[in-house]
Amino acid sequence: MLEVSGLTTKYGAISALRDATLTVGSGEVIGLIGPNGAGKTTLLNSIAGLLSPAAGSVSFNGADVTGSSPEKLLRSGLALVPEHRRIFTDMTVEENLKIGGITRSAADRTSDLDEMAELFPVLRDKWTTAAGFLSGGEAQQLAIARALMSRPKLLMMDEPSLGLAPILVDVVFSLIATLKEQGCTLLIVEQNATRMLEASDRAYVLRSGEVVATGTGAELRGRDDLFD
Ligand code: ATP
Repeated sequence: MLEVSGLTTKYGAISALRDATLTVGSGEVIGLIGPNGAGKTTLLNSIAGLLSPAAGSVSFNGADVTGSSPEKLLRSGLALVPEHRRIFTDMTVEENLKIGGITRSAADRTSDLDEMAELFPVLRDKWTTAAGFLSGGEAQQLAIARALMSRPKLLMMDEPSLGLAPILVDVVFSLIATLKEQGCTLLIVEQNATRMLEASDRAYVLRSGEVVATGTGAELRGRDDLFD
């Protein structure tokens, strides 16, 4: 579904991502792990069209989408839940969700809203509350639900558990498990390597802007050299 080949992205003269290659197959849950500053966010943002790569290519469902705009990518089925959520704090939960479904027909949007209310009971209870009043865990669920409203073929999430209390980290990972059961394809950046390796089919380890290892959770957990 997604093929990233030799992707290099620079901030000025500095290459934050170098020659990164990865694939995501339909229905797979793929983790991107690595220490702070490894280039994980840069990789996700380069795929999602928020950053322009200096070299390499991104292919999505067989089409070359390298350098495409985020809007075009969203319409073709690639959605991103960005770091720090970026929900609209002055708007209600419902309004945030409607914006997420902007690429869909009004009828589809209405039935998707019902589905989100079912999948996220916490949000259903705060439907008309301004998003700025949500707790961190609720806001993260809203950010994920908003991205799901576009019915993405591939959903990318940047650090979904960042800043959450342990009990809410559990909520996020159980949501990831539910989405996996439903057949969603997910590419997830996580600091919490242990949890991500448990939740994913495969993972890629980044360090200093490069992919240094890839494999299943079981394979990578045995690599002591990667997690010092
Ligand atoms: P974190 O978990 O801290 O977000 P990360 O693995 O996602 O880490 P990136 O945010 O992609 O890493 O950062 C990779 C490198 O690029 C780091 O050295 C960072 O300092 C640098 N960097 C990130 N954003 C910018 C920017 N806007 N301008 C200049 N350098 C940047």
